[in-house]
Amino acid sequence: RQAAFRTDLSVLLDQVGTGKESLSFMKRRIRRLAQQWATAANRLDTKLEQRWRDQKKILVHVGFLTEESGDVFSPKVLKGGPLGEMVQWADILTALHVLGHNLKISMSVKELQGFLGVPPGRGSCPLTGPLPFDLIYTDYHGMQQMKQHMGLSLKKHKCHIRVIDTFGTEPAYNHEEYATLHGYRTNWGYWNLNARQYMTMFPHTPDNSFMGFVSEELNETEKRSIQQNKVNNMAVVYGKEASMWKQGKEGFLQILHRYMEVHGTVYYETQRPPEVPAFVKNHGLLPQHELQQLLRKAKLFIGFGFPYEGPAPLEAIANGCIFLQPKFHPPHSSLNHEFFRGKPTSREVSSQHPYAEQYIGRPHVMTVDYNNSLEFDSAIREIMRTKVEPYLPYEYTCEGMLERVHAYIQHQVRTSLPPSHTVIVGPLFVPLPNSTALGWASNVTAPAAWPPLTSLRLLISQEGQSCVEACQSAGFICEPAHFRFINNKEALLEVQCEVIDSEINHILPAFSVVRRECGLQREPLLFSCAGHSPKYRRLCPCRDFRRGQVALCRDCL
Ligand code: UDP
Repeated sequence: RQAAFRTDLSVLLDQVGTGKESLSFMKRRIRRLAQQWATAANRLDTKLEQRWRDQKKILVHVGFLTEESGDVFSPKVLKGGPLGEMVQWADILTALHVLGHNLKISMSVKELQGFLGVPPGRGSCPLTGPLPFDLIYTDYHGMQQMKQHMGLSLKKHKCHIRVIDTFGTEPAYNHEEYATLHGYRTNWGYWNLNARQYMTMFPHTPDNSFMGFVSEELNETEKRSIQQNKVNNMAVVYGKEASMWKQGKEGFLQILHRYMEVHGTVYYETQRPPEVPAFVKNHGLLPQHELQQLLRKAKLFIGFGFPYEGPAPLEAIANGCIFLQPKFHPPHSSLNHEFFRGKPTSREVSSQHPYAEQYIGRPHVMTVDYNNSLEFDSAIREIMRTKVEPYLPYEYTCEGMLERVHAYIQHQVRTSLPPSHTVIVGPLFVPLPNSTALGWASNVTAPAAWPPLTSLRLLISQEGQSCVEACQSAGFICEPAHFRFINNKEALLEVQCEVIDSEINHILPAFSVVRRECGLQREPLLFSCAGHSPKYRRLCPCRDFRRGQVALCRDCL
């Protein structure tokens, strides 16, 4: 069946259910953004020019909100607890509904069993028949629950699963045996999925798919009125929980207060939290639409280093604030920071919000060393002088999210997930190994490939450099789906290898300059954009991308 865009969200709102603060939060959000989604749906509908879109049967099982997982989030919704996940799930549900798919939503193990056709009372009875869904969106908690209730058949149906995974999972952590043998084993990873089945909140490692969420969009009149009503010396502090204000924040809060009126939205019960200085005008935790109003007036939204990589900075920038945030030196990661410890990634987080730093940057985002009070001081003064327009990257608009999710649903299908074994194609054009941009494959064909092969650019990294960095520094993005086309002898043609081995190692394909040894990848699940090693230069499959929509290549729609 053909999927038809929906602009009425009432059926979705009924489906989300009631009885928990988390659900009420999500429904308020869905209602508040309804008009924005409808406009975006109409625009994308026109853009796609009547193209056929399959209507898919989709199950969304929100594992972290189930009682069985302990649901620690719902009770904290009104108390300053994390809301980013709920923002994202609300938006995913809306996007799937608006795209016109046949949606079922489950927020408990019982509902999950009902939808999967497991008879009630037979908790661990494995699903025997075919899977009644084309796609299942869930999270790591949901994976555990599905494993318990589907037994071995989970393996059979694995390629239909998408895991919403805020911070991302790198291939080395995802491959169970490899992770166990090489010290990448965590409590979360090891599902042996294709890494593109993990879908993240920001475009972190391109090994995963970027799902994202949306932020408020403004029309021209609103933009103009915001700019007229900006209060030049008004700052809002990023941090809705008192603990985020603890320790060592007094120094720069004092400097900030020298120039600006400081506002906060810190949750409190009866009295001002002791962590929040008296000069701060604390509004208490605000409903989302009131926070937006506050951000419309403020000039500066300032981060203290935590929470990492949340939605709020994008909302602030979209409302015309400048986001000021600390640089992390050295970067934070699972190797050196409690928050990331045990997360299935070695990604190095260079500031509180690397997306804001790298994809948006000045004048909307300033990333500075907070330990250097001179630098901090001059940043504040610069912000007061600088005029900025509200800005929202296309990929965080409703249309951008619909476009991306549409493309994933129509194209990321069995043909590319999981990847087929290495296809030898060639010859590829590979100039000298020490140049950076290395041309691209023009004479290879792979009809089923998505992203299409026209987007491939082959590149060789520096020693120690990952393909994420190598592609980025040449203005491209690493595309894991293209590894299978460059994992061959032909791609190594110009590299003078004395030996070519084929091994199981997430650094490969790569070569060692000193030893003149080249290595191809034997395990497609370990193709990794993120991998790097000091002695190796990596063969990197890069691709082009659309401005403001990094998930999609130019010919990807
Ligand atoms: N938020 C809110 N009221 C507030 C402060 C924040 O509703 O007083 C919302 C904000 O609009 C954002 C969400 O909380 O969409 C999550 O924000 P944050 O970046 O703090 O990420 P988290 O750590 O909660 O995942």
